Amino acid sequence: MIEKIIRILINYKIKFLIPFLISVGMVVTSIGIIFVLYFFTKNTLEHQITESIHDQRNIVLEFYKNQPQILFSNKRELKENYYREMYLSTNHFYYIFIIDPITKNVLFSNYDYFTNKIFDQILNYYSKTLSIEWKDILIAKSNIENSNKKIAFNKNDYFIYVEELEKNHWLIILYNFNWFHIFNIKNISILFLIFSVIVFAPFIFFLYAYKKIYQTRIDFLIDGVERISRGDLAKAIPIIGNDEISQISYYINEMRSQLKEVVYEDSLTKMLNRRGFEYFASLMLNHKKKYAVFFMDLDGFKFINETYGHKIGDEALKIISKRFLSLIESKFIPSRILLGRIGGDEFAMMIDLSPLNDPYLDLQIFALKIIDEVSKKLEIQQYVFHLGVSIGVAIYPEHGNDLNTLLTHADLAMYQIKYSTKNSYYFFDSNLKSLYEEKNLLRNELITIFRNQTFKEYFYLVYQPIYDLKLKRISHLEVLLRFDHPYMKATPTDFIPLLEELNYITEIGNFIIEKSILELVELQNYVDYELKLSINISTKQITDKNFYKAIINQYKDLSQFNLKNHQIIFEITESIFFPNFTRALRVINSISDLGFLFALDDFGTGYSALAYLKDMPLKYIKIDKRFCSDIVVNPKSQLIVRNIINLAHLLQMQTIVEGVEDLITMKKLIELGADYIQGYYVSSPLKKEELIAFIKEKVIV
Ligand code: C2E
Ligand code: CA
Ligand code: CA
Repeated sequence: MIEKIIRILINYKIKFLIPFLISVGMVVTSIGIIFVLYFFTKNTLEHQITESIHDQRNIVLEFYKNQPQILFSNKRELKENYYREMYLSTNHFYYIFIIDPITKNVLFSNYDYFTNKIFDQILNYYSKTLSIEWKDILIAKSNIENSNKKIAFNKNDYFIYVEELEKNHWLIILYNFNWFHIFNIKNISILFLIFSVIVFAPFIFFLYAYKKIYQTRIDFLIDGVERISRGDLAKAIPIIGNDEISQISYYINEMRSQLKEVVYEDSLTKMLNRRGFEYFASLMLNHKKKYAVFFMDLDGFKFINETYGHKIGDEALKIISKRFLSLIESKFIPSRILLGRIGGDEFAMMIDLSPLNDPYLDLQIFALKIIDEVSKKLEIQQYVFHLGVSIGVAIYPEHGNDLNTLLTHADLAMYQIKYSTKNSYYFFDSNLKSLYEEKNLLRNELITIFRNQTFKEYFYLVYQPIYDLKLKRISHLEVLLRFDHPYMKATPTDFIPLLEELNYITEIGNFIIEKSILELVELQNYVDYELKLSINISTKQITDKNFYKAIINQYKDLSQFNLKNHQIIFEITESIFFPNFTRALRVINSISDLGFLFALDDFGTGYSALAYLKDMPLKYIKIDKRFCSDIVVNPKSQLIVRNIINLAHLLQMQTIVEGVEDLITMKKLIELGADYIQGYYVSSPLKKEELIAFIKEKVIV
């Protein structure tokens, strides 16, 4: 259809071919006529005279003494023939007088009845109207007598030609330059040529310009249609005038804006969709400023969608979108920000960094603000949830020259925290790329070993002792998972997120629970007090019914293993606050009701909502290892840790400080009132056999 339109438009140019051919024809014809006239007609004085005689406005006066017969003398046959011809053929339109110049008597005339009187009248008439005086003729005559026998001079409109043909025989022609004269065929053809050149040149120019304009407009049109067919809906086709092309352009533009709404707009949130975002972001990149791309993936959205249905999910997306929009409108940072929903629960921002004084810092603050906004509770119908957001950041041009690369890199950065702490941000760095590739290999391998149910061959357990600072003995063992593969190396930070992503975490989690409980039974034999086992449970596991089922069905009562339920501690992290804290809390509470204990892991790293702590049946708070790194030298860290410990005690909880690597740190922690420590200073994670040896040695720190 569109192609047809264009084809018609191209044919439209034929219109201009006809006037063009006519102009060419005009010029060629005039050149031809002039050529013929110049080469096939005589251009002699005689010829000019002849022509003038043919014009009835010219007067030929022939003077001859008393012998009119001389007119037909053989000598001037040519000229006389003309006269005769004229005389015979012109029905007396031409006046020929042969006059005696002295007496002014008419000696001969083609008008028989012409008398001197009549001639006088004629001459008087001409003298008046043409200001030709008889004396002029006489002056001419006398000049000729003294010189060349011929003379020509101008007198007003007349060119006077005087020739002494023979003694006393004069030819005088009053040659009229009356403008009608111009209309002889030669002049007409010259005029015609001039005219046609005058017409033709601008026409050619016009045609050229017109053709150019049309061509450009058709090019615009083709370009516009071609762009639409590519899905690029940014530019409208320029509309010039209101002819057919303009009309077609107009309708195509209309189509385009309607398509644009459909193609660039996300129908749910009314913000840009991926295509729209990509398009406008690419435009922004043309400005060659510095930009940041935020790739934002909601944490816990899938859960809401799966549990409460798509309607609630859609509502959640709308609310989050509004929060993003009002954050942008609030000008939290003074930048131009482009926002789009680029996937189900994925959003992207493109931020102009030029107005920012310290872009790196400002972006971090902005990312935290976004996290803060998204994390605010969501109330939809009777439900209350919490979402989080993982933000990956890539900077233009450092991290990519085009939008695609920037988005991929921001996505990679996002991925980095999505499957670890969540609800945080991460800046892209070049190492991520190879990490990503390695991760892909690992992911594929995990899929294979879980499909083949051979994962137990590759995963094994280690235990890290936790030391009781008051009783000065190993009180707990934290079970940690290890991956042993012939050619792949992977730490828990590599594979745990993948196991979560691939939904294998509960399966392997149940295996860890089963195996570590059996091994605890064995390890218990080596000490004469109750050893506690700390098992990491990922957020995904908590809300998985297979986890809950396993606890209820198999481990409801651990007396079957000669253990008490309170010997098992489940370590959870703050990420359980989203997506659905209420539901997670319900599971935690019912497991807690069975007598199992809970520890809040990595406290101080993520989304800290201390207010929620009091609602949770937590026995322990594990203070993250980051506080240990500088606790000895940094009074601020000391203050924080002291306050966490005090608050924990206030809430009837105990504190385990992770990552203790030396004696001074341990001493400091004793001073600050910590209950337990864990870290390389006590022991690194050990295999069961190594642990048995460790316990047997009864290493007391
Ligand atoms: P986490 O629960 O915080 O485990 C403590 C991590 O700190 C362990 O790393 C341990 O090896 C390391 N660590 C212990 N002492 C020190 C020390 O003195 N200094 C330093 N720098 N690090 C120390 P690992 O085993 O690599 O585990 C990393 C994370 O992976 C764990 O953090 C936990 O979140 C997760 N993880 C490990 N095993 C499991 C598991 O069986 N199930 C689940 N769901 N997550 C697990
Ligand atoms: Ca842990
Ligand atoms: Ca930890």
